[in-house]
Amino acid sequence: MDFKKYIAIVPDYPKEGIVFKDISPLMNDGEAYKAATDAIVEFAKEKEIDLIVGPEARGFIIGCPVAYALGIGFAPVRKEGKLPREVVKVEYGKEYGKDVLTIHKDAIQPGQRILITDDLLATGGTIEATIKLVEELGGVVAGIAFLVELTYLDGRDKLDGYDVLTLMQY
Ligand code: 5GP
Repeated sequence: MDFKKYIAIVPDYPKEGIVFKDISPLMNDGEAYKAATDAIVEFAKEKEIDLIVGPEARGFIIGCPVAYALGIGFAPVRKEGKLPREVVKVEYGKEYGKDVLTIHKDAIQPGQRILITDDLLATGGTIEATIKLVEELGGVVAGIAFLVELTYLDGRDKLDGYDVLTLMQY
């Protein structure tokens, strides 16, 4: 499927000079959303994944249907202050500034094989922080899947040694 047909290109959002890739038309189309989910499910099946982990908010949109299809769990990574119980946290730099990401301390059992999902790989800061959280809890990052990769921001450089799937590249 030509997934790029379902990505809306939005110039100067959220600020001038940034060309935002809006994935919502893809999610809005049942066939495209299912085909994208199926491609990630196939990638995950080869890796004997125990749990999906995704950063808010679009990591949930990608990861949860994959978890459902595989009959496994999903653990959310969220901004500081959003998770109600004991967390581990990490500070990271992103395309538009600095932030803190957290995960519940009991979300991952040591040795579990984890697939990380998000909608888009830009500079890689978000996913690098998510990897740190997973590994701090003893999880094994067995794969990382995105819908979109912005190759000109070189996020892949931060993911050396990991098995990465991206369905579209710009
Ligand atoms: P990074 O941390 O790799 O620089 O940025 C990726 C994160 O920012 C992802 O969680 C993604 O949701 C968000 N993001 C950054 N740029 C875009 C974009 O152009 N489109 C979408 N959909 N998300 C973006």
